[in-house]
Amino acid sequence: MKKISEEHFFNQQACVEATNLYVFDTRTRGSRAAPQKKKLRHGGKKMEIICLDLEGVLVPEIWIAFAEASGIPELKKTTRDEPDYDKLMNYRLDILAEHNLGLKEIQETIAKIDPLPGAKEFLDKLRSLTQVIIISDTFTQFASPLMKKLGWPTIMCNSLEVASDGKITGFKMRVENSKFTTVKALQSIGYETIASGDSFNDLGMIKASKAGFLFRTTEQIKKDYPEYPAFEDYDDLYNAIEKVINS
Ligand SMILES: [Mg+2]
Repeated sequence: MKKISEEHFFNQQACVEATNLYVFDTRTRGSRAAPQKKKLRHGGKKMEIICLDLEGVLVPEIWIAFAEASGIPELKKTTRDEPDYDKLMNYRLDILAEHNLGLKEIQETIAKIDPLPGAKEFLDKLRSLTQVIIISDTFTQFASPLMKKLGWPTIMCNSLEVASDGKITGFKMRVENSKFTTVKALQSIGYETIASGDSFNDLGMIKASKAGFLFRTTEQIKKDYPEYPAFEDYDDLYNAIEKVINS
């Protein structure tokens, strides 16, 4: 087996980290050949990863569904009514405290919410095509009962701070501008991303990806972003993603 020198190894690492890769001609034993621009390939295949939004794409809006399931209409307020996320979350936590609702009660209610019809079949089909990550602004503890129903896909979201008596005392956002930051991070480790979502907070990852699709979005977003194909059905979204992967 051919021994790879340390210099060659680190050169390979640098290749992965760079957007434009320098290709080393192995025939010249690691010496630098004329730099060429090449797309990252793995065994001749592109390394693509699909980044999907959760709420509105695979499951209903959790807080709206929870407001209905718990009979607390004040919890229907969303980012469309209150754009300041911290303010909105503190408002929600105050209401939960007023109704003496802890994490256990909320998870029991969320467990009664089902994924959108056809969502699991769509996700299963997509995961057989390539890797899928769900990138969401929700919280791990809320998403958990729904992830169970979706067959435990990988999800990257935020977390709630929960006291030993089960009361929710706060929340921790994983990173700022999480969807955009996460796709950029995936790209920095050699992936090409394909993203889809329904809302304003998905536009960052959609714009930053190799291909982006709107799914069950609003008329306003469709009008403002005509460059992104918008779909209503899982089959249409699947076919568009498959086309990108096979291109
Ligand atoms: Mg959404």
